[in-house]
Amino acid sequence: MPTSDNKAEIDALALAQALIRRPSVTPQDAGALDILEAVLKELGFTTHRLPFGDIDNLYARLGEGAPHFCFAGHTDVVPVGEGWNADPFAAEVKDGMLYGRGAADMKSAIAAFVAAAARTPAPKGSVSLLITGDEEGIAINGTVKLLEWLKARGEKIDHCVVGEPTSVSRAGDTLKIGRRGSINFRLTVSGVQGHVGYPQKAKNPIPVLAELVTQLAAHKLDKGNDHFDPSTLAFTTLDVGNPATNVIPGEARAGFNIRFNDKHTPESLINWVNDRVTQVARQSGCTIAVTSQTSGAAFLTAPGKFTQLVSDTVAGITGQAPFFSTSGGTSDARFIKDICPVVELGLAGATMHKADECVPVSEIAALTDIYAALLKAYFAKPPL
Ligand SMILES: [Zn+2]
Repeated sequence: MPTSDNKAEIDALALAQALIRRPSVTPQDAGALDILEAVLKELGFTTHRLPFGDIDNLYARLGEGAPHFCFAGHTDVVPVGEGWNADPFAAEVKDGMLYGRGAADMKSAIAAFVAAAARTPAPKGSVSLLITGDEEGIAINGTVKLLEWLKARGEKIDHCVVGEPTSVSRAGDTLKIGRRGSINFRLTVSGVQGHVGYPQKAKNPIPVLAELVTQLAAHKLDKGNDHFDPSTLAFTTLDVGNPATNVIPGEARAGFNIRFNDKHTPESLINWVNDRVTQVARQSGCTIAVTSQTSGAAFLTAPGKFTQLVSDTVAGITGQAPFFSTSGGTSDARFIKDICPVVELGLAGATMHKADECVPVSEIAALTDIYAALLKAYFAKPPL
């Protein structure tokens, strides 16, 4: 228990190294959560291991009352890939840099938060960690199930910080206050196969698909707004795969992705695509099938008391208020936003998912200072 007379000291760097040395490539845990759970127990947290399917997860809480501040993150990492000079799981420090898979995304941030919590006097409220092993995978047996479990137990979180590596060049230079949504679409145009010499007896799906691709790609979805860039639509593939020179193919396919801001919902975009498709199908006489898969809707934590508190705290440590951003890919914040205000604040992520993933050791210390100051400020004057 981190009381004033018996302060536990946690070395954030050593803890980050211990976590990196567990090769927890999704869905493996490889003992990473055991290390974290043992440290948190030592600090007085009540811990729960919550395996769902083949994924292990951890929820740990210190204190019982409100307000309840939660730190969310993941111990799983993406596969190593090729081209490393460093050993990806040795967690070596060289020239002031900590190398390893997960150094940036995001074992060091978890270690920094634990060290910050250890430094902070027992909260007038609760501090918790919601750590999943399924963020880099399909994210079915991680945060979504953890949040359901919390709800079933009647646990209420008031505010959440996700420790994703969302900064640009130094810890705290950027605060993610929302994210764009993402949907993938597949189009299949079915015509009638035939001889190129008798096109009137065939129905060529290629010009039809080309027309549809042109219409969709040319459309401006919106102009963006105060917090978001304009939504984008990008085609990722166009497939016919016809090796014959004398055959009109029967089918042509394409795929595209839409990254969208909070002016749209997945439903509104799916309806828009379906409308275009119906029109082109009617004009052409071809059948066009559409399938879509939504990775997440857009969300925004509207700037207010909580974002101000985080911003002021970061400025107090780094000398500069963070830039509020909504760019980049999706994260588990897309699920947490349904239960409480959530922002993302972590290390710079330039090397995440790359070979020789690394972070400066000094940045881990800086992030620990930021998290510690945040806990102190939060419980001194909760932004409720
Ligand atoms: Zn991550």
